[in-house]
Formats: sequence, structure tokens, C-alpha cells
Amino acid sequence: MVDIERYNSFLERLVRITHEEPYNRNSYLELITEMCKEYRLAKGVTRFYQTPMMETRGLGDSFCDFDNGKAEKILLNIRIETQTKAIIVGTVYGEAEEEERTEEELVQLDTLYRIILGFVSRRRLLNKLEEFGFYDLDGYRNFRSFARFLDIANSENRLGGMITFHFDLRNFTMVNREIGRANGDTVLRRYYDMLQEAMGSNGIISRLGGDKFVGAFDREVKRRVYEIFSGAPVAYDDAGEKKINVAAAVGVYMLPNPFMMKSYGDIMDKIMIAGESAKRQASSVPVIYDDKMKMAKAHVKQVQNEFRAALENEEFAVYYQPKVDIETGKLVGAEALCRWIKEREIVPPMDFIPILEMNTDICDLDFYMLDHVCADIRRWLDQGREAVRVSVNFSRKHLVDIDLLDKIIRVVDKHKVPHEYIEIELTETTTDVLFRDLKRVVCGLQEQGIWTAVDDFGIGYSSLNLIRDIPWNVLKVDKSFVPKNNEDQDNISNKMFKHVIMLAHDIGLECVIEGVESIDQLEVLRQNNCNIAQGYFFDRPLPLEDFEERIDRKIYPGY
Ligand code: C2E
Ligand code: MG
Ligand code: MG
Repeated sequence: MVDIERYNSFLERLVRITHEEPYNRNSYLELITEMCKEYRLAKGVTRFYQTPMMETRGLGDSFCDFDNGKAEKILLNIRIETQTKAIIVGTVYGEAEEEERTEEELVQLDTLYRIILGFVSRRRLLNKLEEFGFYDLDGYRNFRSFARFLDIANSENRLGGMITFHFDLRNFTMVNREIGRANGDTVLRRYYDMLQEAMGSNGIISRLGGDKFVGAFDREVKRRVYEIFSGAPVAYDDAGEKKINVAAAVGVYMLPNPFMMKSYGDIMDKIMIAGESAKRQASSVPVIYDDKMKMAKAHVKQVQNEFRAALENEEFAVYYQPKVDIETGKLVGAEALCRWIKEREIVPPMDFIPILEMNTDICDLDFYMLDHVCADIRRWLDQGREAVRVSVNFSRKHLVDIDLLDKIIRVVDKHKVPHEYIEIELTETTTDVLFRDLKRVVCGLQEQGIWTAVDDFGIGYSSLNLIRDIPWNVLKVDKSFVPKNNEDQDNISNKMFKHVIMLAHDIGLECVIEGVESIDQLEVLRQNNCNIAQGYFFDRPLPLEDFEERIDRKIYPGY
């Protein structure tokens, strides 16, 4: 028999511990164990059902905080229905050989146990609230948990020196298409878990939605975290055999030390800006925020806001840069390059193309260019001029468009331009999925008699697969790949240049060398049997009238 004072002290401690914040599980368990011993209990089990229906079906969770392994008979069975209609059932067991309990003892136990049940259901509710408040529907920590993390760290003066970040997974739409949505979800989750583990208990990663995440971690774990950012194999089957490489486009803001956060915006604005800039670059190194980017952001907004109207007003002009046959000096083609004529100023493509590539605006611009080029060629043909093939740049952003081919043909046919006058320039891609799209598009154009060129070959991830597996007509070798002169024959890049040209010729590709600026370079090209050059040495990109003058002249002076 437990005396009344002992009971009162249990009651008091129980009430205190179950209302304590933060909840201290250890002292709670200690108290439970002590009570169970005092009351000679063998076991206590609590079952929790979200709804009465789930109770009927036996679908609930059960907890057991004490069990000495000798449970035999049920002493008490308490069932409570909470305000939210959840059901909580507590069962207390005694051992086999024991004296009968007094009525008073059972009443004491009943009271204590109801407090425990009330507490358990309250905790469940709190956990649920935490889940709703701090996790999204897929079980990822959400922005609110990041905000809470920042608040707590800020109040404890621990933010200074931390690294905060925003990232988007690179090509995740493609990953989903490649391995299926369900596997994509698995990959996303495992990548997130991998990062959380690398960041340790002092770091946090939260999902903003889709494949966008934010978070913070300590400098000590930077190396490992950066490694995962730059690309990590993630398995999407149980055996861990099927893997896909996942990388992130990361913007980081290194918090100064000391650092006091006044609002979340102090951090969010910066990591978002750096993140956007990371998305625009191909390299997998995180982009570090700096104040210059703020300006850039205003510029991005402006371009995006003005683009539609500018397109309607035909503010974009086609400039033509001649391509010249190196042997004969004959004009053999041109590349159409876009210029934005804005309040009489000429805005170069680098100032707006990357921005238009942030969404699909670029696709509309490319079709605008194609449309204007076709109209010009049609006119040249009608005027009896010697029209040349013109290449138009098409952004990678088009590749996922299943109707791309039809759309191109429609524009060309609308102007009744023979297909061989049109060439589409595409750049190489970095992922397998895009590679397949690229191949599909190039083969389709090929069948229609439209020429295709791989642009900027030699920078980035040029792979030989690209020219071996896709039936291009033209290889455009980037200016950075062209040797400055013929002096150092043993120089590795000179050798590579030679071999790439040989290879291209072997498989029947026409080679256009971009960025030819000097007579020395032209000489190198001659010695390597290159066919066609495009560059300032011959002409800069020219406005229409100047280019038409070149068409009529046909041969470059000096030949
Ligand atoms: P790109 O397609 O590789 O075009 C060649 C770029 O090299 C052009 O720059 C051209 O002016 C420049 N260039 C030509 N010869 C020389 C030279 O001798 N020396 C040097 N240093 N540069 C030379 P631009 O016109 O500024 O265009 C830059 C890039 O913008 C283009 O690179 C292309 O990727 C993109 N772009 C331009 N117009 C369009 C367009 O209508 N659609 C799309 N999607 N992209 C475009
Ligand atoms: Mg080009
Ligand atoms: Mg190029």
C-alpha cells in the first residue's frame, strides 16, 4: 500500500514534469519507472488512435514506457477520447503472484495514469503540430523550420560564420523524365538525407518546394557538403545498384562573424540572388553572394519586364556575321546574331540572352530571329541575289519541346525558303537525357534537309560522343580552341585542334572556325585544312544593309 504522502509527491512531480518546457524525456522516464516500482506494476502500455474508426480497425501506435517482463494480469484499462476525437487507451499490468490491491490504491493509480495519458496525447498533438507546421506534405522540413533554426541560432549568437545556401537541383525535370517520377522522389529524398547527414546536428536543410532548398551549416563541414553539392551518386533502388548523379546549382552567403540577423530577408535575399546566378552558370562550384549581384538582379527584372513589348515592337535586329571559304575568299554563309536596339543603343546579346534563358522567353526570341532570317532570305531569292545559308542559334531550352521540329519547319515553309538555306546551331549538352533530345532534334532536322551545327565546340564539356553519335552537318569550333599562331607545334591544345579538325573531316563534317581575328590565325587554319572561317578578321556581325553589300560583292578583297 502506497501511503498518501508518497502518492501526493508522485502527483506533484508528474504534473510538473509533464508541463515542463522543454520536455525532458529522461526525467519523465525516471519518474515512470519509480512509480511503477512503488505501485508494483509489471508493465504499462498506451495505444493511440487518430480516430474512433482507426480504433475499430486496430490501426494505431502503441508505446510502452515500462516493462519488467513479468506482466500477467490487467489491473486497469483506461480509455480517453480527446477533443480532437482521437482515442487513447492505457493498460496497466501487474505480476501474477501478488496480493489484491485496495480500492484506494487503484484510485491513486487511475488518477496518475490519466495524467500520463493526458500528457501523452498532448505530446502527440504537439508532435502533429510540429509536423504540420515545420514539415511539408512530403515530410521535408519546410521554410518555417529554417526560420525557427535561424531565430534560435540568432538568439544564441551562433549565426556568425555559418554558411547559408539556396539550391535547385540541376536538370531535375530531366532526371524525373529519365528514371520516372517515383524514382525521382526517392532520389530527391536521399539527396536531402545525404546533405542533412553531412551538415550534422548544427546544420539544417529545408525545402521551399519542388527541387528548391535552403539551409545553413557550419564551416567545419564545408568540404563534405560542397562535395555533395557538386555532384553525388544517389541510388534509387533498394539494392543500391541503380544510381544517378545529382548535383545542385548553389548560391551561398557566408555570414560574417559576428552576425546579427534583423529579418530573414537579410539572408534569404542574398542566397536567392546567388542561387539564381548559380543556375545560369554551368560550373558546379557554389556561387558566393556579393553586393554587385544586387544590381544584376535589378537588371534581370528590367529585361524580363521589357522583353514582351520589345518583341512586339520589333526592337530586336538580326545582325549577320559572314562565313568565308578560307581557300577562295568567297562568302559562303552567315550566322544570325541578335542585337537589341534600345533607345538607339545597341545592347549586346550577353546582356540579355542569359536572362531570357532563365525562363522560356529565349524560345520566342529564337523563333523571332528565324522568322526574320527566313523573310530576308526569301527577299534575296526574289531579288535574284545569291542568297547564302544562314545559321540561327537555338537555345538548349528548346530541346524538351516535342513540337520543336514542326514549329521550325512551319516557319521556314511559311516563307517558302528552301530548307538547305537554313542551319540551326545548337550547343552541346551535359546530361544524358538532353543528349537524347538533342539527337532526336538533329536527326529530325536532318531528314527535313535543314542543316545543323554544333556550336562552341571545344569549350565546356565537349565530348567526342557528341560528334560521333549525332549526325551534325557542321562543327563550329570555338575561338578559345583556335591556336593563336603556328609557332608551338607541340603545344597540347594545338595538337588537339589539329586532331579535332582531322576527325571532323574524316566523318564528313564541315568545320567552321569562329573568332578568327588575325592573318596568323588564318594561316594556322590553312595548314590544318580548315574550310570556313568566321571572325572579325573578315567582318564583325553586320546590320542587314551592310551584309547585303557583302552578298553582292561575293569575294573578299585580297583573294
Ligand atoms: P555564338 O553563337 O558562339 O556567336 C559567336 C559570337 O562570337 C558572337 O558574339 C560574335 O560576335 C563573336 N565573334 C565573332 N567573331 C569574333 C572574333 O573574331 N573575335 C571575338 N572576340 N568574337 C567574335 P555575340 O554576337 O555577342 O553573341 C554572343 C552569343 O550570344 C552567341 O554566341 C550566342 O550564343 C548568343 N546569341 C546571339 N544571338 C542569339 C540568338 O538569336 N539566339 C540565341 N539562342 N542565342 C544567341
Ligand atoms: Mg552561334
Ligand atoms: Mg559559337
